[in-house]
Amino acid sequence: MKEYDYLIVGAGLWGSIFAHEANKRGKKCLVIDRRTHTGGNIYCENVEGINVHKYGAHIFHTNDKEIWDYVNSFVEFNRYTNSPVANFNGELYNLPFNMNTFYQLWKVKTPEEAKEKIRQQVEEAGITDPENLEEQAISLVGTDIYQKLIKAYTEKQWGRKATELPAFIIKRLPVRFTFDNNYFNDRYQGIPIGGYNKLTEGLLKDIEVRTGVDFFENREEFTNMAETIVYTGPIDEYFSFQFGQLEYRSLRFDNQLLDQENYQGNAVVNYTDGETPFTRIIEHKHFEFGTQPKTVITHEYPQEWVKGAEPYYPVNDDKNTAVFNQYKDLAAQEENVIFGGRLAEYRYYDMHQVVGSALKKVKTHFI
Ligand code: FAD
Ligand code: UDP
Repeated sequence: MKEYDYLIVGAGLWGSIFAHEANKRGKKCLVIDRRTHTGGNIYCENVEGINVHKYGAHIFHTNDKEIWDYVNSFVEFNRYTNSPVANFNGELYNLPFNMNTFYQLWKVKTPEEAKEKIRQQVEEAGITDPENLEEQAISLVGTDIYQKLIKAYTEKQWGRKATELPAFIIKRLPVRFTFDNNYFNDRYQGIPIGGYNKLTEGLLKDIEVRTGVDFFENREEFTNMAETIVYTGPIDEYFSFQFGQLEYRSLRFDNQLLDQENYQGNAVVNYTDGETPFTRIIEHKHFEFGTQPKTVITHEYPQEWVKGAEPYYPVNDDKNTAVFNQYKDLAAQEENVIFGGRLAEYRYYDMHQVVGSALKKVKTHFI
């Protein structure tokens, strides 16, 4: 008999959901995280009464009522709707690509005019079967939008040419022929009232958690402590990088507390030109309609991941997918270990997909 039924490596959303569900079923769990706090990338730090999204802006959105009800059972969500603005060399455009954007670019006033403009540009570009992000973007919105709002932002964000990136990345963004600046098409959207830490605290209530603890520093000891390991860290690290390192994209966040009430009038402003070194400025108070006298802004600088940095985005191109599949095969053979989450599944998961993935695993595991 081991001390714990489950050792959960990683107190991010995936690990916290699994721990919660296991604990609910009477299983004894220990959750560890190498960071000094729980929540993984959804963690918020309170600065002057403002919940600062420490690892980048997080907006919860889903079409799935079960997932929405699940997160709302731990904390109520507000009615925040994400409507980022793009700044291209000082010109402002609404996002996602919608009638407001088309009017700002071309002065077209009707969906028919906008569609015709895009159709002409797509035809001139001559793309029939889009095979990469550039071709996909041009075939969706034409060359003007691609040049002003997509190409440079994408290449800064990923540190790779848009022609070398998978097409699915750009399909995350809606294109619509209505005057609607909502960044998501999903039925449900919002930010937890009081911040994301409330969600994490609700999930991990009554569960033993140790932070500042790295699984790999005492791997054998930890492995012997529990019947089953639930691993949510990078999959290549678990297997000692034996097939090589998977590539990730990382970020540097430059936070500033400003002695002014409202810096940019919006939570998210993207800088889509090639000269500005950061991709976006986040003004955190707007996620919760804050009225504090001060404000906190964050400049987000993309960077290549190196050992020791935080691996934020998996790079799901062909090369990395092939390496990941080798690790995945090994993972399938590993006894008494469950792999889950953005890093262990090496997938560009949003939060609702993490909730979905964790709950699905729970359903099949605890039959
Ligand atoms: P993580 O949050 O990464 O948690 C994994 C945890 O495991 C980490 O805390 C890590 O420290 C720990 N860990 C790893 N290895 C070890 C080890 N060896 N020992 C101990 N602990 C370990 N999603 C949305 O839905 N909406 C958004 O607007 C949105 N914006 C985002 C913006 C950015 C900049 C980023 C990076 C992500 C964004 N996401 C967004 C995605 C969201 O962050 C993820 O879907 C979700 O947080 C992933 O949860 P996870 O538990 O899989 O991983
Ligand atoms: N994107 C872009 N211009 C923008 C915003 C996004 O070209 O102003 C592209 C870019 O390639 C980005 C992808 O769309 O990586 C997905 O954007 P999203 O906002 O979903 O990225 P995330 O919030 O996950 O960083």
